Amino acid sequence: MTPADAIVIGAGPNGLVAANVLADHGLSVVVFEAQEQPGGAVRSAQATLPGYEHDLFSAFYPFAVASPAIRRLRLEEHGLVWRRAPLVLAHPTAAGPTAVLSTDLDRTAASLDAFAAGDGAAWRALYELWLRVAEPFMDAFATPFPPVRAGARLGARLGPRAALRLARMALLPARRMGDEHFRGAGGGLLLAGNALHADLTPESSLGGGFGWILCAIGQQRGFPVPQGGAGRLTEALVRRLESRGGSVVCASRVDKILVQRGRAAGVRLADGTEVAAPRGIVADTGAPQLYLDLVGAEHLPMRVLEGLRKFQYDNSTIKLDWALKAPVPWSDPVVRQAGTVHIGESMDHLTTATTELERGLIPGRPFLVFGQYAAADDSRAPAGADTAWAYTHVPQRTVGDSRGELTGRWDEHELERFAERMEDEIERLAPGFRDCVAARRIAGPHELEAANANLVNGAINGGTAKLHQQLVFRPVPGLGRPETPIRGLYLGSASAHPGGGVHGAPGSNAARALLAHQRLRVSR
Ligand SMILES: Cc1cc2nc3c(=O)[nH]c(=O)nc-3n(C[C@H](O)[C@H](O)[C@H](O)COP(=O)(O)OP(=O)(O)OC[C@H]3O[C@@H](n4cnc5c(N)ncnc54)[C@H](O)[C@@H]3O)c2cc1C
Repeated sequence: MTPADAIVIGAGPNGLVAANVLADHGLSVVVFEAQEQPGGAVRSAQATLPGYEHDLFSAFYPFAVASPAIRRLRLEEHGLVWRRAPLVLAHPTAAGPTAVLSTDLDRTAASLDAFAAGDGAAWRALYELWLRVAEPFMDAFATPFPPVRAGARLGARLGPRAALRLARMALLPARRMGDEHFRGAGGGLLLAGNALHADLTPESSLGGGFGWILCAIGQQRGFPVPQGGAGRLTEALVRRLESRGGSVVCASRVDKILVQRGRAAGVRLADGTEVAAPRGIVADTGAPQLYLDLVGAEHLPMRVLEGLRKFQYDNSTIKLDWALKAPVPWSDPVVRQAGTVHIGESMDHLTTATTELERGLIPGRPFLVFGQYAAADDSRAPAGADTAWAYTHVPQRTVGDSRGELTGRWDEHELERFAERMEDEIERLAPGFRDCVAARRIAGPHELEAANANLVNGAINGGTAKLHQQLVFRPVPGLGRPETPIRGLYLGSASAHPGGGVHGAPGSNAARALLAHQRLRVSR
């Protein structure tokens, strides 16, 4: 194997962004990936029937098009084509109108006015605030905490009083933010539905801010999908890396980080090969795996081990993929135009489902994040058909089932029963959905982890997104930056600030920290 300056462990989006940044600064870099294919949770395949391309994990990428860490790579020059559905997001309600997010501001506003006159203007005001802060805000989001320079620009743009009000708003729970800004139910539903992409409840602090950011990015840039499948995003990252001399070696799990005199000297692969990393290592692995398995407790201070003991994973996940004979027959035809659909008919429904999760109960009526492609990318399915997916959360540690039927063992039988429960929720809003299904694929917590060791028991975000494990507390208090207690080793996965989602920020931050310690000039 040709020796490299730096090693990246894991070819997820963060690992590949890190490798690209290192290669851009003149380092030779090799990425070791445990699986047969690169991409981590950004992969796609014809996993059901010929002609149906399924995104196996993540599926739509607002953060990727908004994040400076990925935008800087100009992946469009490496073959990536973004596609957008006519509507960004639809959130149908049981009896009332459907809340809609569109890149056309008038359309979003009209949708919210249908819930209560004046709610359209309330969204326009929230979106105007976003436009004022978006650029420094995304810079602050994508740099290690505290984001000194971007934070100062944000403060200067708003002034101290407005900055304080923004900070308060960002910390609001989604339900409260909805109540403060809207009279009808639509605005709160858009905020809360987006907050629930992470393991937040409508009542969690930070949920309002998280929901507002996702809605605002959706309003500004849509929730785009790569033409042809999620795997095309990974291919663009790999192609760009290779064009700069870097390489990705698949089916090569790293078993150990070789630590010499407190410094990461190299790695040992599962087949016993040892590879030196003279300039440093970026780990795109979960924090517990990095510290406890790859480094080893003997090299770590007590305070880190104590922090890791309290590390909290986010909820577990069950994901379904469908090959459909025809597009979903939504009762409200407007839903057909949306790429992403939130299925959870009211704020109280969202609260019930997420409160059950907080109690360790399998939700009786789960909240689904649902995706369909016919309106965005007709290359995903045969003509006249569609490819669709949905995921929902189940507890990390199951205490019981709110319906008393399942145990959380998630064997084939339990997955099938729960898949029926998920499909029931779709049938309520789209009677006849089941008749459209030509094939179905189920991935539960065990399948997800087997396909990617970072998805521990189905956790999709590298650790909870709740406030107590964010910012300076991510992954553990005192380790809030990419640097680790081992010199030359940097954490660059979703376990690091700012957490889950395909934005590349943890990978970019880790690579930049490595470059700075090597006294290499880091470009912006
Ligand atoms: C079902 C699902 C749906 C999601 N939906 C979305 C979405 O629509 N939009 C969005 O923005 N985000 C979504 N996410 C979240 C997003 O995919 C993740 O936050 C993101 O992929 C994290 O990137 P990463 O590089 O940190 O880790 P990962 O993508 O998990 O990649 C880690 C890689 O490291 C490899 N690895 C681990 N250990 C080792 C080792 N010891 N040696 C070698 N290789 C190793 C793994 O095999 C894997 O390839 C979703 C995630 C899941 C699972």
